[in-house]
Amino acid sequence: MNKRSFLFTLLTAAGLLGAAGQTLAQQAALKPHVAILATGGTIASRGANSLALTDYGLSSGLKPVGVEALVAAVPEIEKFATITGEQVFNVGSSKLGIDNWLTLARRTNEILAAGDVDGVVITHGTDTLEETAYFLNLVVKSAKPVVLVGSMRPSTGMSADGPLNLANAVALAASPQARDKGVTVAMNDTISGAFGVTKTNATNVATFRTLDGGDLGYMQNAVPYFVAQPLKRHTVRSEFDVSALKTLPRVDINYTTLGSDGAIVDAIAALGARGIVNAGVGHANMPNTTFESLKAARQKGLAVVVASRVPSGMVTPVGQFAQEGFVSSMMHTPQKARILLMLALTRTTDPREIQRIFDEY
Ligand code: ASP
Repeated sequence: MNKRSFLFTLLTAAGLLGAAGQTLAQQAALKPHVAILATGGTIASRGANSLALTDYGLSSGLKPVGVEALVAAVPEIEKFATITGEQVFNVGSSKLGIDNWLTLARRTNEILAAGDVDGVVITHGTDTLEETAYFLNLVVKSAKPVVLVGSMRPSTGMSADGPLNLANAVALAASPQARDKGVTVAMNDTISGAFGVTKTNATNVATFRTLDGGDLGYMQNAVPYFVAQPLKRHTVRSEFDVSALKTLPRVDINYTTLGSDGAIVDAIAALGARGIVNAGVGHANMPNTTFESLKAARQKGLAVVVASRVPSGMVTPVGQFAQEGFVSSMMHTPQKARILLMLALTRTTDPREIQRIFDEY
């Protein structure tokens, strides 16, 4: 066990009798083992006072709390599982990069492959939580539960949502029902699938929603109630493997507005990106100059995905785009299309093959 890794366990109490006549050590051995990987975010942040609900973190001058304090604040979780904790990093999620993703994916896969862990909980900032969840959904090689959780209010805030979210996340990760559901998100009593979930409100605790297709289930009294299961390929049925990668192909997003042009697309192509996601308007529409710039990018060998800045609905292939070798994003938001395109480009540059990937994942 490395220095930052520690075990919260009842095993030291071995020999004492528990309620069911078993030793506490026997009870601990019967409980599932959940590993908590902490990465930072509001759930680990502290504000200057209980009403500092948006001004906290670095601006409060108070250091974030570590995994040990996070776990100690919610003793209820030991009812559901034997807990081990590990601080993978401790930063706001807007500051994370591809290297953090690769580290997190490797560590998650190592822990799940070791055999003695039944599920993983990852504490994470909410700003990019949906992106990390979707990335892991595509690269984790296990059917065991992997649950992402965060909070909208800092640990010092009035009505902080972190403790109950963490209790729900651990209960979910410890549950056999959460197996083979892909990576899930446990926020605000809701179980969301990584494919569809998105942050919809900058401050409200009821922010994570699945705008198309709905939630996978709900947490009630820390018990999971599933109502759906994901049909898209994920985890053990995913073809993507990042275990040997040091980085991912660069993909950037161009955001379309009334009156925008192709200048940013040209700049993206010039800086050496391997792919572009165009966040178009409506059903991926765009100004003519943007279209011309995307065609030029294709001629330079970049992959182009046409998506929509509209937060719900599907972008299916249309003739004009397909003729140019543009891939349609289907139900992926621009930020999730970027992740899938980065991974697709680790395997192919053929637009038909990339479209197949966008259809299946
Ligand atoms: N700034 C935070 C983050 O790390 C926001 C949050 O966690 O809610 O994403």
